[in-house]
Amino acid sequence: MRVLKQAFGFDAFRPGQEQVIDALLSGRDVLAVMPTGAGKSLCYQAPALVMGGLALVVSPLIALMEDQVAGLRLDGVAAEAIHSGRTREQNVASWRRVASGEARILYLAPERLMTERMLAALARMPVSLIAIDEAHCVSQWGHSFRAEYLTLGRAREALPKARMIALTATADQSTRDDILAKLFDGRAEAFVAGFDRPNISIAVAEKRDAGTMIERFVLARKGMSGVVYRISRKKVDETAARLRAAGVHALAYHAGMEAAERASAQETFLAEPGVVMVATVAFGMGIDKSDVRYVVHGDVPGSLEAYYQEIGRAGRDGDPAEALMLYGLEDIRTRRRFIDEQDSVAERKRVESRRLDALVGFCETSSCRRQALLAYFGEASRPCGNCDVCLDPPEVVDGTEEARLLLSL
Ligand code: ADP
Ligand code: MG
Ligand code: ZN
Repeated sequence: MRVLKQAFGFDAFRPGQEQVIDALLSGRDVLAVMPTGAGKSLCYQAPALVMGGLALVVSPLIALMEDQVAGLRLDGVAAEAIHSGRTREQNVASWRRVASGEARILYLAPERLMTERMLAALARMPVSLIAIDEAHCVSQWGHSFRAEYLTLGRAREALPKARMIALTATADQSTRDDILAKLFDGRAEAFVAGFDRPNISIAVAEKRDAGTMIERFVLARKGMSGVVYRISRKKVDETAARLRAAGVHALAYHAGMEAAERASAQETFLAEPGVVMVATVAFGMGIDKSDVRYVVHGDVPGSLEAYYQEIGRAGRDGDPAEALMLYGLEDIRTRRRFIDEQDSVAERKRVESRRLDALVGFCETSSCRRQALLAYFGEASRPCGNCDVCLDPPEVVDGTEEARLLLSL
C-alpha cells in the first residue's frame, strides 16, 4: 500500500491487482488475465519495487515500452529499455545503468532477452521478477502469435530465483492453457478479474427482421451516440441508409471505404453528439469515446471475446448503457461455414468451433447472461439484475413429456 501510494500516487487497488501482487510477493508464479485498461502494469511494477533487485519486463511493442519507461521515470522509478528502436549508444547506456545496479526495471524485446549472452549476463544479477506482458503472443491460435515468445519459458530456467508473471487481456481457455503450458510448464496460479462492466445492460433478442428491429431500437434512443455492428459491408451500407432515411444522423464505416472517408466518419462520430456509427468489425480499435450509450449487434459476432470487446465500447463514462444482440440461427450457420471452409489446420478449426459453441450457449442461456459471459472469461459472479434474463426470466417448462411424445411419433 505504501508503494502504491508513494510511488504511483494511487489510493486503492483496482479489482484483481491486490490478489495478483499478493501471490507474487508470497513467492508464487502468476498468470494474470485482466481486460485492457484494468491496470495490469501495476501488477508487476509495484512488486518490482517491493521485491528490490532487478525486474525484467518483456513486451512485444516498442511504443508500449517507451510509454511505460517514460511514465515510470516521471514517478521517479529508475526504468530502462533495450530494444531495436533505440540507438546502440542508448542501449549501451541503459545496460550500464542496469549493470551498476542503479536500474530497478528493465524493459526488453523478447528477442533481446533470449540471447545466450543476455541470459548469461542477467544470471549474474539479482533478477527478482520476470514479467511477460501481452502473453497471448505465445499462443499459436491467437492473432498476434510471436515466435520469439515461444522460447521465453527458458528464461525461467536461466534465472531460477526470479518469480514470473505473465499478463494478458485475452482470456479464453485455450489461450490461457497455451500460456500456462509454454511459459510455466503448467505451474502458475491463474487470476482472472475485472471483466465486469456492470453499467452495461445486456440483452439478446431473436432476430426476425433485423433492419426493422435496429431502426426501432435506434429511434427509441434518438440523440444518443451508438454503434451498430453488421457482418458485411453491404449490410452496413443498407442499415446506415435506412437509419438516415428515418432521420437519424447515421454514418457507415467499413474496410471497403476510402481511408479518408473512413477517417472523416470516425472524426464526426468522436466530435459530434448523437451520431450512430453503423460499422463492420473494422471499426472500434482504439476508439475512446466515453458517452457511447449503446452497441447493437445486428448480426451474431465472431466470438464471445469479440462480443465483449465490442460491447465494451459502450458506457465508458460509467453511466447506464445498453448492449443488444440480434441472434439468428442463419448467422450461426454462416459462422460455422466460415470455420469449415477456411483453409487451416484441424486444431485451429477445433478451437474456433468451440468458441462458436460458447457463443451459442451464451445466446441460448436461460440464466443470467452476464454471469455466463464472465464465466467464459473465468470470472465468478452472481446473477446481475441488469440483463434481459435477470429482468424478465423465461418461463421454464418441463418439456420431457412433450419431447417423449414427439420422439414417439
Ligand atoms: P492494462 O495494461 O491492463 O491495459 P494499464 O496498466 O496500462 O492497463 O493501466 C491503465 C490505466 O490505469 C493507467 O493509466 C494506470 O495508471 C491506471 N491505474 C492502474 N492501477 C490503478 C489504480 N490502482 N488506481 C488508479 N489508476 C490505476
Ligand atoms: Mg498493458
Ligand atoms: Zn443478469
